[in-house]
Amino acid sequence: MANLICTETKEVYNTEVPRWKSDTGALLDLSITPFFDLEKIKSRAKCLWRYREALPIENEKNILSVDEGFTPLLELAFDNRKVLIKQEQLFSSGSYKDRGASVLMSKVKELGIKKVVQDSSGNAGCAIAMYSAMANIDCDIYVPANTSDAKLAQMKMYGANIHKIKGSREDTASAALEAARHHYYASHCRNPYFFQGTKTFAYEVCEQLNWNAPDSVVLPAGNGTLLIGCYIGFKDLLQAGIISKMPKLIAVQSENCAPLYHAFNKNENDISDIETQPTIAEGIAIAKPVRAKQMLQMVRETNGLFITVTEGEIISSVRLCGQMGFYIEPTSAATIGGLRKYLTQSNDEIIVSLFSGHGLKATEKIMKLI
Ligand SMILES: *Cc1c(COP(=O)(O)O)cnc(C)c1O
Repeated sequence: MANLICTETKEVYNTEVPRWKSDTGALLDLSITPFFDLEKIKSRAKCLWRYREALPIENEKNILSVDEGFTPLLELAFDNRKVLIKQEQLFSSGSYKDRGASVLMSKVKELGIKKVVQDSSGNAGCAIAMYSAMANIDCDIYVPANTSDAKLAQMKMYGANIHKIKGSREDTASAALEAARHHYYASHCRNPYFFQGTKTFAYEVCEQLNWNAPDSVVLPAGNGTLLIGCYIGFKDLLQAGIISKMPKLIAVQSENCAPLYHAFNKNENDISDIETQPTIAEGIAIAKPVRAKQMLQMVRETNGLFITVTEGEIISSVRLCGQMGFYIEPTSAATIGGLRKYLTQSNDEIIVSLFSGHGLKATEKIMKLI
């Protein structure tokens, strides 16, 4: 059985009534006791639903799946150091957001919800729109007016209703919050079911390492959809006695928009207002991540750290990955830039990182680099 828990008051809600925030308006976490039968898992299709006893869907008939997940974990060398890179650019909609969307939209279907709202500057919107299309659920997506045409085209093809909002990324979030007063908010940063999907990244990494945890995992950090998911996933396996330690979570931000990096290094528990500059890594350009406190606490607890990357380092990593045969979007290259920095300050560790999104998402941006 799963419960929803208020992150502020710890009040507990059941999961049968649709809700995405607490009565006081605070964020919710999902509490679930995951179960892992390693033999059964091994016998199933190579997709994230092989861990279904650890996922919060009651009835299998509600699962929305295209056999997503179980992406390859390739050994690659960066600057002559071997690392393991998970191929998260290979999902149907072009980014790892499909993990969260598959689980969240399956729950939406299970709850009998007919319409969702979401706000996104790109990939999360694409993933939610894709699974909404599969389930015939109405989907309204609020996007900043400057969202790239490629991502808008993709959302529209999936049949989503697009609402372009002028102003900042925060203005878009406010417009979606307003709409969410009347409709279910399938938010990738607020809705706890999304993180129940992204946690499967950690499950897969450990299974691919014969049920061992790596020493560190280098992850992007904007809203933390993967960072928080990873923490939950590794914690589940630790508590089940399957792995024996938590890996260090190494979180990468763009130097031009690094609220968490600054709070972390000032030893603060929450972010403060910071000045930001535009960055080519638009996907992680989040000045006010709503789950900042959780992200800071999780990185600290694992003895991890925050790293920032410059625009130059991001661009050089887009190019380097291309030369190695991997076409990734600039947001994705920011993580690789951070990984390369981390390699200069670590020794014989088993390090896992990822390509988070496909290069075809960002043709216009990449054209400008050529
Ligand atoms: C969503 C996303 C990220 C990570 O962003 P968060 O805001 O931390 O969830 C990184 N790369 C790509 C391609 C993404 O779509």
